[in-house]
Parts: sequence; C-alpha cells; structure tokens
Amino acid sequence: MNLSGWVKNTSKGVTIEIEGSNETINIFIKRLQIENPPNSTIYNIHKIYISPKGKNNFKILQSNITQSPNTTILGDIALCADCLHEMNDPSNRRYNYPFITCTNCGPRYTIMTGLPYDRPKTTMQDFPLCAQCKAEYENPTDRRFHAQPLACPDCGPHIELWDNNGVILAEKEIAMQKTIAAIKDGKILAIKSLGGFHLICNAQNEKTVQLLRTRKNRPKKPFAVMFSNINDTKKYCRVCEQEKKLLISSQAPIVLLQKKKRCNIAYSVSPDNPYIGSILPYTPLHYLLLQELSFPIIATSGNQTGEPICIDNKEALLQLKEIADLFLVHNRPIAHRADDSIVRIIAKEPMILRRARGYAPLPIITQHNNNNKESILAVGGHLKNTVALAIENKIISSPHIGDLNTPKAFEGHEDAINTLCKIYKTKPAYIAHDLHPDYQSTKNAQQITQQKYNNTTLYPIQHHYAHALSCMADNNLTGTAFAVVWDGAGYGTDGNIWGGEFLHITKDAYKRTGHFLQFPLPGGDLAAKEPRRAALGLLYKYEKNKAFERLKHLFSENEIELIKTALQNKINCPTTSSAGRMFDAVSSLLDLCKYNSFEGEAAMKLEFIADAKETGTYGFKIRKNGVVDWRPTIANILEEKHTEEKNAIISARWHNTLTTIIVKMAKNSKEQNILLTGGCFQNTLLLENAIKAITKEGLKPYWHKKIPTNDGGISIGQCIAVNKKL
Ligand code: ZN
Ligand code: ZN
Ligand code: FE
Repeated sequence: MNLSGWVKNTSKGVTIEIEGSNETINIFIKRLQIENPPNSTIYNIHKIYISPKGKNNFKILQSNITQSPNTTILGDIALCADCLHEMNDPSNRRYNYPFITCTNCGPRYTIMTGLPYDRPKTTMQDFPLCAQCKAEYENPTDRRFHAQPLACPDCGPHIELWDNNGVILAEKEIAMQKTIAAIKDGKILAIKSLGGFHLICNAQNEKTVQLLRTRKNRPKKPFAVMFSNINDTKKYCRVCEQEKKLLISSQAPIVLLQKKKRCNIAYSVSPDNPYIGSILPYTPLHYLLLQELSFPIIATSGNQTGEPICIDNKEALLQLKEIADLFLVHNRPIAHRADDSIVRIIAKEPMILRRARGYAPLPIITQHNNNNKESILAVGGHLKNTVALAIENKIISSPHIGDLNTPKAFEGHEDAINTLCKIYKTKPAYIAHDLHPDYQSTKNAQQITQQKYNNTTLYPIQHHYAHALSCMADNNLTGTAFAVVWDGAGYGTDGNIWGGEFLHITKDAYKRTGHFLQFPLPGGDLAAKEPRRAALGLLYKYEKNKAFERLKHLFSENEIELIKTALQNKINCPTTSSAGRMFDAVSSLLDLCKYNSFEGEAAMKLEFIADAKETGTYGFKIRKNGVVDWRPTIANILEEKHTEEKNAIISARWHNTLTTIIVKMAKNSKEQNILLTGGCFQNTLLLENAIKAITKEGLKPYWHKKIPTNDGGISIGQCIAVNKKL
C-alpha cells in the first residue's frame, strides 16, 4: 500500500509502525482485520498516533523479548495445501518428507518450550538449519520465513520403525513402506503423531478392531476413525457443510458424524452408536499413510485406558508394547501433550466437547479483567480435568488432561500447571479448586499453596457454579442469569452430591433455587459405573421395599440383600439430586444398560433410541421450594410396557418431560438469560429440544460452543468465580 515503517513481534503481541496518508492508514487498518494471515486471530488493536519519521521503506524487524512474555501460545495447525502439494511433488526437495511445514502450518504448542515462539524455544532447537532451509527461513518473501519448525530431509527429524522391543527395523522411506504393509496386513501400530501417540489399525477389519479392544481393555467406548479425505468420509458418514468446514479446518478435530445406513466400517468401531468420531489427516505423516491405503484407519489415543496419551518414544514402548505390534516413531520431541479435540454440530453450531490440539491453549478473552496483574490458577475438577490460568482479561486453559484416577494422569495434571506457569512466567496469587475435599486436584491445590508458592489464597468453588460461569464466559455474558446445571456429580455446599441443579446467578455469587428430589445412591461412586444401582436407588425413594422385587432381575440374590441392608440402614448410600444418575436409572429401568463401560454409556443408549416424532410427556411436580419431584414421571414410566418399540416412545417422553421442567423453572426464575450447562447437555436431543422450547417462551437460551459443557470447562469457570471475588 506504499506505507512505510516496520513490524515486529514483541512480548505484548505484534507492533506495527506505519506512516502514510490518513486515508491509506485507515484502509490499512481495515484490511488488516479482513485479510489477516491464515490461522491468525486479532483480539484487539490499540492505536497510538506518533509524529512522522519520514521513512520510505517497510521492514520486518527482529523480535525483542526483554519484558515478561505476554504473547499467546499458539495452537498446532494442520498441514496446509501448499505443503501437501510440495510433499507429493517428486521434483521437490521435500518429496515424501513427513516433517514438511511452513509459516501457515505445523506444530506450535506441542513443540514449544517457552515464549515468545522462536526456534530456540522449541524442540527443533537441536536441528540446525541447512543452508537451503536457512535461506528460506531468512527470506521475508518466502512462505517459510521464520517458520520455526522448518526442516528438510537433510537437516530435520526422521522416522523409524521399531518392533515392540524397541529394535529398529527400518528408517525413513523404507520405514514408511513397511508401516503401510503392516497396516494392510491387519497389524496394530503405535505411531508418534503431533501431540502424542496414536494407536492405528484397519477400521474395516473386525478381527483387528476387536483385538485392539481386548488389548486396550476398552470394551465399547467408540474409537475415532481417520479417513483419507472429505469425499472418502462421505462414503461412510453423512457430512453437512458445517461438519465439512470443521473437518478440513486448520484445527482438524474429531467431528462426530452420523453413520450412513450401510456403512462399511467394522461394527466394533462404535458399537450401538449412530455416530463415528471422524478425523482427516493433519500431519504430513498421516497423509503419507492414508494416501497409500484404500481403507480408513482407527486413530485412537496411544495410552493405556485411564492414562494420559504417551508422548515419549521410550515411554510409549513401555506403555504400549502389549497393545501395538510395531512402533512408528521419530526424533522430534513432543514438548507437551495434546489429544485430538472432539467437536460436534449441535443446534447448527460447533460445540467443542474435548478442547485440546488446535484449540488449546489459545486464550479465551473474558469481560472480567483482573486489573491487579496477579494471575489466578484454577486446578479444575476430577473427571476430564483441565487446568487454567487467568491473566488480565485472558483465560488460558490447558488441553484436555483426562480423569485424575491414576498417578500418571495426576503427573499430567501437575505438568500442565507447571507448563502454563513457566511459559507465562507467573506465580499465581490465587488458586481456585473444586469444593470436593477428596478430589486429587483439590489436594494438589492445597499442597501447591503450602509448598511452592507462598502468599497464595485458596478459593474453593462449587462445581455447578463453575459450570454456570464457564457457560457465561463462553457466551461473553455478564450480569445475572438462570442456570440449569445438569451433570453426573458435584460436591454441594450441604455435603450432598448435586447434579440436577437450578442456580440463580447474581453479580458475584449464586443461589440454589431448585434441584431434583434427592434419592439414595447405593454404593456411592460405584453407582456411576453401574446404572442398575442408580435405578434401584431411585425406585427405593419412589416405592421403598417394592423396588427390590421389581429390579431383582438386575442383581444376584446376594447382591440385592446387601444393597437392601445398605439402603435401609443408610450405609454408603449418599443422597444425590444428579440428573446424570437419573438418566442412568431410566436407561437401566428400560433394560438398556446395567453397567457403564465408559462415562455416559447408559445415557447415550437412552438418547439414541428415542423416537424423534413422539411429542408426549410424563407428569412431575415442582414444589414451592424449587424441588422438582420426579416421582410422577417414574410412575408413568413404570406403567408402560418395556418393549423395544415402546422404549423408543418412553425415551422420547422422558426427554420431553425434562424440557418441560426446564421451561417451567426458567419461567419461574423471572430471568431472561437461561444457561444450559453440565455434562448432560452433551445430549443432542435434550439440548436442541430445550433451546427450541426456551426460545418459544421468549427467553434467551445460552449453551456451550468453545468451552466444554462437561467437566473440561470447570477450570475456566473457577477462574471467573475468583475474578468476581477480587
Ligand atoms: Zn504449510
Ligand atoms: Zn534443511
Ligand atoms: Fe460436572
């Protein structure tokens, strides 16, 4: 545009000094926001006028990194079309090179060791650039100008194929050829991907898929499938425009797609499930594999069930040697793990269910500005754990870590905290944690305060309040709102397990204005794994001892006697208002699911069988104190015959009843803004029905889009809760 001046990266972001006529500068600022480079995000522009310097050129200056870093950690980016083209061009010097990359694509967070993002602060620092790469790196007109992960076959990382004892079988192109042959041969491979290892195998080979299930000890939880391209995906799944956009986006998440009627994918990939978690190749390595295969592959996290995804070659060998036949590894270290993100289209908009590679740890900008410059650390919940750091008006949430049930998972949790604090060079002044005294994350927060950072203040935050605030942050809402918070379990201020909550959110606090009638959960935590226990607890509340006779087919004689004694004497039978457990109970009452082999299995089965055309509802009562009495609902369900056909109607009516309850409570609240949050709202039928019904009443529904509605969003909500108190 014939403007003069310079541009550089600073610890505050990008600084541009520009000189020219007023009119041209204004056009420049407009164009900057419309024509910004791919994958860049402009959060805001601060403009200052200075006196003219009279220069007549424009320069790109060296980054200066003197102050503490306040720039952003970038998300990893899927391979771009230009690089893909070059990789497939036999005359290109990076032909078939699995680490081809440029300024517009490739690893970021997963190779980053510090800020600002420059090569010496990445795991590429041990690969000195060759003369040709260096020339590209230093040429401002080159697509690889300052591309930090830049590499070529001469100077960059390479791949190796190992057997499951770590013996090198082949390297470089031969390793790739042998890998492809092994996949065709029905073998299970562990491959080092971008943010961790994947376990891969032929997704059409039922025998191999079952073998993977056995070896991974994962009976039913769906596996993700990698298709070679969008047209290939359409052979197996229905893909709408928005889903396509997500699949080919630079974040390249797993997108939940509806299976086609005659879908030629092994049944065991996602048993009893109308969806397939679908993903497209996003690294050069994936493309090199998929281009040579005539079938889609399973691409599931390379971990032992319950553990975080492996990122290190040796560690992967140790953890996965019983699962994988072969290992395709490389020597570019992964600095931080990042699982594949999971997104689905719900109510015509993307909803991130697992926020990880590509999205995290990009900041969420909030209206809560922590002006005193001290940071807040939030340690999250227990399931689907994430941690978050709030600095000024940004909340930086770690990628998905997982359930904190194992020592390794807990290590991942600690790593994530240390990484965020280290990269942003901050010592948190406030630490937020869940109210639950027994969560590992809570205990960790207490320990950090005692051992690591002096003068930090602890803030216990109620679980469902955190859900509600994360929903508000997601929608950029402040002020008051009425929150419907439904999930599996969260510790309540009265020491009971909450989970079917109605909260009135005020300026800096909340009031619990309603909840489901409580019922006992025989066996406590065990009930989350055994929907039949939730069913028995629910029925015991409804019809006392008659319940044991009615549900005896779900238990052995011995079991039922033990549970009877427990319920009658209130031994290990905590009371709960959990909506999640009610879904489990109804699913079990209809004989759909006795045991959950993964979180949400019973509720998903119930959702999937619902007859979408059915409009009927069941009874319920709302008491003056806001307690929702579900006993009329259960009475109605028990009156019906539980045949396969009728179950579809019952499930629909159950979902419709819940929508009616939401609307009644919303209207009673006298609030305009209605939040729908908590793990239960991953249920498409429930969420879409509720959105429609709330809108019909002239109220405004809000739900999750970029922050998970499940416990993955808890850490962000905790940050907001503390910010409101400061
Ligand atoms: Zn590229
Ligand atoms: Zn090179
Ligand atoms: Fe929750």
